[in-house]
Amino acid sequence: VKRGGKRAFAVFDANEHAFDESLSLLRSDLEGALQSFSGLRMEYQSIIALHDGSISGREALLRWKHPVRGELSPAAFIPIAERTGLIVALGEWVLRQSCADAMTWRDAATLSVNVSPVQLQEDSFASTVAAILQQTNFPVQRLYIEVTETVFLADDVRTRRNLTKLRDMGIGLVLDDFGAGFSTMSTLVRFSFDRIKIDGSFVKEALHSEKAAAAVRAIVSVARDMGMPTTAEAVETHQQLEFVRACGCTYVQGFLLGLPARAESIACIDAAAPDATVATR
Ligand code: C2E
Ligand code: MG
Ligand code: MG
Ligand code: MG
Repeated sequence: VKRGGKRAFAVFDANEHAFDESLSLLRSDLEGALQSFSGLRMEYQSIIALHDGSISGREALLRWKHPVRGELSPAAFIPIAERTGLIVALGEWVLRQSCADAMTWRDAATLSVNVSPVQLQEDSFASTVAAILQQTNFPVQRLYIEVTETVFLADDVRTRRNLTKLRDMGIGLVLDDFGAGFSTMSTLVRFSFDRIKIDGSFVKEALHSEKAAAAVRAIVSVARDMGMPTTAEAVETHQQLEFVRACGCTYVQGFLLGLPARAESIACIDAAAPDATVATR
């Protein structure tokens, strides 16, 4: 754990210069997009229940079509939004848009929304979520919020307060990208999550590496003992699907089961989507 941590910090330092440049370039563009929310949209990826192949939920994924550069990955612009504080307004838009979109779904699928550590450090975050639920009428018990364990890096009092408030409101909390971080086990011990999402890198490696396979089995086992369902993310092949099924994962998500899709295309799909047949094969 120590070695991984050190290496990660070194990489961050080396990228610092390049990061600052792209920061100033993209910052004003993102500010512009946020003024009118032009070029920003949400897409939704199905989360499939392995026991019956049904669509249990959908994860909201932010997309930004830059006027010049075209489609940008959230991995490229979310860090910029975090650094500039724009993530607070952007994240609020994401939540409102996602809840409004999910109201048009014909099934009762849950909605999972990714939230940045920066948003959770805002005193007002939990009440903002409450206001959005009220404005959109989206049922609180169908909302999940996904955070990575980096939310605990700062050991911030407001973060803990927000997470506790969200949980008390009845919102599900998902620990995303589990296993990829610094202190995964202590995160599980220090806070109660409703679900764990196993990082896609383990799913990818599991078929080639007995160690990665053992890691997935261990995560599922710990989660089960702690009373939490698991989701395997980034499942791309039938072999990977059969592997995570054999491990006892509860849910699966990935290009094999369904690509992220625009809101308009989900609103007109029936509960018996083609996605579902893939999962039970
Ligand atoms: P994440 O929350 O772990 O989301 C899963 C990522 O895996 C998404 O990438 C998704 O498109 C991708 N993915 C899904 N299935 C597969 C697969 O089978 N194979 C592979 N290789 N990838 C797959 P995306 O949309 O590029 O998002 C990347 C990250 O950006 C997300 O990781 C999340 O941390 C962040 N992000 C996305 N949308 C938002 C948002 O609205 N707010 C915040 N704060 N972060 C977001
Ligand atoms: Mg996520
Ligand atoms: Mg993830
Ligand atoms: Mg991930």
